[in-house]
Amino acid sequence: MAEKNIVVIGTGVSGLTTALLLSQDPQYRIVVAAKHMPGDYDKEYASPWAAYRYEAVKSQNGREALGKCSRISSEIALVPAFTSKANCEIHQRAKDVGTPSGDGYSELSSVDPWFKTIVLNFHQLDTPSDADSATLCMSVCINTAIYLPWLVSQCLERKVTFKRKQFKHVRDAAAPSIHPAEKVDLVVNCSGLMASKLGAVEDDKMYPARGQVVLVRNESDKIMGVTGTHDSGDEP
Ligand SMILES: Cc1cc2nc3c(=O)[nH]c(=O)nc-3n(C[C@H](O)[C@H](O)[C@H](O)COP(=O)(O)OP(=O)(O)OC[C@H]3O[C@@H](n4cnc5c(N)ncnc54)[C@H](O)[C@@H]3O)c2cc1C
Repeated sequence: MAEKNIVVIGTGVSGLTTALLLSQDPQYRIVVAAKHMPGDYDKEYASPWAAYRYEAVKSQNGREALGKCSRISSEIALVPAFTSKANCEIHQRAKDVGTPSGDGYSELSSVDPWFKTIVLNFHQLDTPSDADSATLCMSVCINTAIYLPWLVSQCLERKVTFKRKQFKHVRDAAAPSIHPAEKVDLVVNCSGLMASKLGAVEDDKMYPARGQVVLVRNESDKIMGVTGTHDSGDEP
């Protein structure tokens, strides 16, 4: 069977998971090329900062992808070194509806979301005193500081190679010098936020969001999410 030479741009969760899944087919020879690698911390590289739960997004277009992610999540949830599985409560405050944060979470905090049949144990909760509605489903919490190197080690075991490269244009990833076969059949773009700047992609739907991760030593029997940031001063 003819081999296919593939370049994946990006070493975030998207790029590394793509490379790992593709590497299960021995027909593919894969290079992952990126400006940042696990171990780097930069505002252009989101995955080392992602801190929290497996989370569904607004669009229904992701239904099929989320189904697959759901299966991947169940598989990786078996690796306790970097995951914990727990019920996740989402509390929605009515005053957040129409704000940037409320809109961003509108599907996640809906009492009738499109993903309710995909995630496990989805149901509506009695309304808590600090919210206007609340839901619960099973989720996993992934420690990306451990998970990203684990993905790299799994890829290396399957002969995926890594290159540190910054591309100005998406076609630069198809240059013969990027792949040991000196020929590239397919480029998969997993450049995350920086897809907004990558030549010929220039995805104007990508925009940055500010976040802060605080690590707390704690015992908890559930994961909590509450909408809203506009409680003080200059927050939108
Ligand atoms: C503080 C914070 C908390 C978060 N919490 C959660 C959460 O709880 N749950 C959740 O689901 N999501 C969360 N997110 C969002 C999540 O982190 C991102 O959606 C996810 O990590 C994006 O992964 P990615 O692989 O698409 O992109 P990234 O991780 O950003 O990776 C992009 C890769 O592409 C490379 N690249 C980009 N442009 C180029 C170029 N031109 N040339 C070469 N390489 C390039 C980069 O170097 C990098 O390797 C959070 C984000 C932040 C910042």
